[in-house]
Amino acid sequence: MSAIDSLPPLREVIATHQLSARKSLGQNFLLDLNLTAKIARQAGDLSNCDVLEIGPGPGGLTRGLLAEGARRILAIEKDPRCLPALAEIAEAYPGRLKVINGDALEIDPLAYLTPPIRIAANLPYNVGTELLVRWLTPSDWPPFWQSLTLMFQREVAERIVARPGSKAYGRLAILAQWRAETRIVLSLPPEAFTPPPKVSSAVVHLSALPEPRYPANAAILSRVVAAAFNQRRKMLRAALKGMTPDIEDRLTAAGIAPTERAEQVSLEAFCALARELDR
Ligand code: SAM
Repeated sequence: MSAIDSLPPLREVIATHQLSARKSLGQNFLLDLNLTAKIARQAGDLSNCDVLEIGPGPGGLTRGLLAEGARRILAIEKDPRCLPALAEIAEAYPGRLKVINGDALEIDPLAYLTPPIRIAANLPYNVGTELLVRWLTPSDWPPFWQSLTLMFQREVAERIVARPGSKAYGRLAILAQWRAETRIVLSLPPEAFTPPPKVSSAVVHLSALPEPRYPANAAILSRVVAAAFNQRRKMLRAALKGMTPDIEDRLTAAGIAPTERAEQVSLEAFCALARELDR
């Protein structure tokens, strides 16, 4: 019998440990182990990697990640009620699962993990976006992680992978695609979760590029993109006029028509503009 088979079904785990879902912690659990195994497979080859999992809850995805061969997992869970269920998993996989009871926004995973590191999570959506932005904006690139496999509400997933010319295209797309390869790898209906959330979800896989796709200063690029998309309906010459008095010339020098709107401008062109403003 493999380790995963020795563990009780997740519905039983929830009942035994009385893990009624708490809305305040964004708890929508995945109880189908075939599904969590499928998500774990999207994280890539785990056999030589340490994995950081945020919000393991009763441990469905954790089990999938271990069964997929993760070398070692650090799982950070805020809800202490989940700890006994996670301890059972740790016992079934000796030395491979460390659980910390705490807030993922406050814990440094590098104190526990050794690269290469992959990150996987089915997280509350608000925490997920905040962590994603942090993981994408470290002080140095490449980051400590090799890939991120994260559940988001469908609409946020679409914003991460969006291309120019679409409504979903904006700061998140540029931030993510500048330094990572991004793909939606799985779509899930509300009924996949217990209890079901109001909206559909999707798993996004991001793999870190060794260096940014186009050269640019990160702080300048971030400022230009924020200003451009804060007034996304305005022409860029108006939206960006606060940045420099000769913005029209700078836009033209970067190969962007001053009458364009942010939504139409490619990542490459935004990087060219950031370089132009860095002269
Ligand atoms: N991964 C489990 C699954 O797929 O069934 C649980 C998913 S549930 C959407 C989100 C989990 O994240 C919950 O267990 C919740 O307690 C935990 N959580 C919420 N905020 C957190 C935070 N700031 N740090 C760590 N865990 C958090």
